[in-house]
Amino acid sequence: MSEFKGKLFTFSAPSGAGKTTIVRHLLRQEKLNLGFSISATSRAPRGEEVDGVDYYFMTKEDFINKVKKDAFVEWEEVYHNNFYGTLKTEVERIWSQKKHVIFDIDVVGGLRIKKKFPQRTLAVFIKPPDINELIRRLKKRATESEEKVKMRVAKASVEMALAPQFDTIILNDDLQKALKETEQVVENFIKK
Ligand code: 5GP
Repeated sequence: MSEFKGKLFTFSAPSGAGKTTIVRHLLRQEKLNLGFSISATSRAPRGEEVDGVDYYFMTKEDFINKVKKDAFVEWEEVYHNNFYGTLKTEVERIWSQKKHVIFDIDVVGGLRIKKKFPQRTLAVFIKPPDINELIRRLKKRATESEEKVKMRVAKASVEMALAPQFDTIILNDDLQKALKETEQVVENFIKK
């Protein structure tokens, strides 16, 4: 039997582009054999989020201690005072289960993973059809204050500019089509 060589699939996009929906869909496809990289974050849980499932929620102090101990593959202050990062133990946990790792990660983080594991990573960018549609989607997500929505919209234009650096860009103008397309690119990269 050939030795298992785990791959990494990073999914990045401006907030509201449908990235999380796509990642969840891929995780349900058993043939793809994917494990979700649960990030550590210092932000508070939102809605139905569960510690150890959606994120490892921790205080800013705990997060910074882990940074000092070099526990992260990558980390980022994605939003002011809100830290997010991928723990080294997380990638090891998923690979030890003989699964490929899938990340829901910001644009900068996705590119960092790619740089660290260039051969094993497929960095995917999910592109929203247009910025107005994105604002509409962000506003529909009523869990956040107007200020936070504005912050995310501003960040989106910066992120759009980094899209050409990704391995693959998937346009999410038709969700069913985007789901099929992503399934295909993931499957092809696993076979490589
Ligand atoms: P949210 O607060 O909406 O869950 O996530 C905010 C942003 O942080 C999203 O773009 C999400 O993909 C990103 N993010 C989640 N985990 C990580 C991580 O481990 N590292 C980085 N760099 N970004 C992350």
